[in-house]
Amino acid sequence: MLSQSQWQDFKELVRRSTDLVTLISESVTLQPISGGREFVGLCLFHTDHSPSMRVYPERQTFKCWACQTGGDCFEFVMQREKVSFREALEMLALRARIEVPKSIDRQENQGAGENKGVSKSQVYDVLNWAENLYHEVLVSSPGAKHVLSYLTDRGVQPETIRRYKFGYAPNVWGWLQNQVKAKFSKEQLLAAGLIRKRLDSADFSDFFRDRVMIPIHDSQGKTVAFGGRILPDSKLENVGKYINSPEGILFSKSRVIYGLNYSREEIVKAETAIVMEGYMDCIMAQQAGIANCCATLGTALTEQHVTTLKRFARKVVVVFDGDDPGQKAAEKSIPQFLAQELDLRILTLTEDKDPADAMLTRGPEWFREQVAKAPEAWEFKLRRVLERIGLDSVDSAHRVLEEMLELLCEVPTYLGSTPTGRWQMREDILLGKLFQRLGIPEKNVRDRLSELRRLRVQRGANMNSNGGAPQSPIIPSQINRLKQKPTVDEQIEAELLQIVLLYPETVRSIRQEISAKEISSTPLRQLWELCLELIDQQILPSIDQVLLRLEESELKPLAVWLDETGRQKNITPELINRTLLAVQRRRVRTTRPSTQDGPGATPDNLKINEPVDSKTLLRQAAEKQQRLHERRDAGQ
Ligand SMILES: [Zn+2]
Repeated sequence: MLSQSQWQDFKELVRRSTDLVTLISESVTLQPISGGREFVGLCLFHTDHSPSMRVYPERQTFKCWACQTGGDCFEFVMQREKVSFREALEMLALRARIEVPKSIDRQENQGAGENKGVSKSQVYDVLNWAENLYHEVLVSSPGAKHVLSYLTDRGVQPETIRRYKFGYAPNVWGWLQNQVKAKFSKEQLLAAGLIRKRLDSADFSDFFRDRVMIPIHDSQGKTVAFGGRILPDSKLENVGKYINSPEGILFSKSRVIYGLNYSREEIVKAETAIVMEGYMDCIMAQQAGIANCCATLGTALTEQHVTTLKRFARKVVVVFDGDDPGQKAAEKSIPQFLAQELDLRILTLTEDKDPADAMLTRGPEWFREQVAKAPEAWEFKLRRVLERIGLDSVDSAHRVLEEMLELLCEVPTYLGSTPTGRWQMREDILLGKLFQRLGIPEKNVRDRLSELRRLRVQRGANMNSNGGAPQSPIIPSQINRLKQKPTVDEQIEAELLQIVLLYPETVRSIRQEISAKEISSTPLRQLWELCLELIDQQILPSIDQVLLRLEESELKPLAVWLDETGRQKNITPELINRTLLAVQRRRVRTTRPSTQDGPGATPDNLKINEPVDSKTLLRQAAEKQQRLHERRDAGQ
């Protein structure tokens, strides 16, 4: 069983050991153009008469400008051999004479228990030791007084600190490694996700620093991971507010449900599970007396989560604040629920309060009322889409319709089959609500749905279903529209991604200016979030790294397309400025709908922040890139 970082390292090794031009030349005759900076050849993936496939050796990507296939070496093999990402990875490893780790299969080998000679029970021991240590520091070390008072300020009671075994990871370099002495080996700490390899040296650093530590348990109540929340006055920069242990032999985010070991009986009694999106919310709710709640660890509800919850509950209420990435996560998980015949409700807490705060100020009774009033998933989704797109033109009504129908197509029962029986009944009800609300004739709605389904089935037949990591649903027609006739907003957003892919260093500055939820296009938003995730792991989101992470995702060709079209565009500091300004203008426009001002005018009374000094930014980015290349060249 490989840990997440070993998996990434292995992929990276294979990718680096594969020359894409050589690989593609095995099946396509390639001609160099632009002095060898590009190659062209006949595309393998459609009937090609004019050479449409381009290979870019510098980025190690390829793209067919006719059929839009594109990606890295893995994508090429996946398409040519019709295999999964994992199989392509193994084939390329073999080709490069790289030994394939014994348990490369992360999915099926879950719990196989071996990790470089570290057993599961050893990892349990390490985690248990660390849990006690962190807890001890929090409750009795004078250096952690400020942490205790922070928790008290947030309304966490002493009894709660004991019950949930809160802890503190001090802000001391290598602290945990100093504590461990000879008790556990580096390999064991690594397998437990408590330390990580540093990017710039052979050393290790503690995974958690200056964080409130919350142990995460499995359903038996054994500690399998930690969640760490950064302290608000922390001096550490560029770190995520909440992080979890990396996935490993005991811990998988898509499986673990936080808090079940405390709440299972209550959930069964109430027949209802309230699902919060983080352990803090769950803990605060339980402290307030809402006993039947649990939490995902900042991810969408997965099929595994749902399967687990269905064993205990008939009804599931997902709770999140109106202002959170978890909102999208919940939105993404809706298709699975529609198929599951589970009563799914979605509760949004308004006024930008997070559930924990709301619980404290308004009390458990208010919260119970909210839970009782929560709308069904379908209704929730419709409201969200209407909020985002509006319903003030024919075009917007059409876009709302498309998104809602795509959602219906996402329902897993549909893949390759026609709806029957009970589902047909549910679907009729849902469609009825839709044409009523949008004022589009029923027949048009049904025709469009059939068409979308047909397209999906066709696509499904060309795709290998035997996938690697589960991917979030992506909507192909959205990607196509983006490429063919993007809206003005989407053009701006695409430009943003183009800048980032070309100058990955700019992510750090741009993220200060723009939040992910401002990106209206779902595929672009998902790419943006991936870039942020990479940078949080101290990896620059260059096109190669982005592709490597996307594995089997349908976002892959989109990323290549953005990268290539971006390169053709000659991205200048002026363009960066213009794009950032456009986003800010849009923000002003959407937060305060224009009244007396003409289109495009900027109201004088609204101050627009000067965009980051993009010249400096671009220069810094280019310099960083240069150094990175030098280091890479030196290292090879
Ligand atoms: Zn092609």
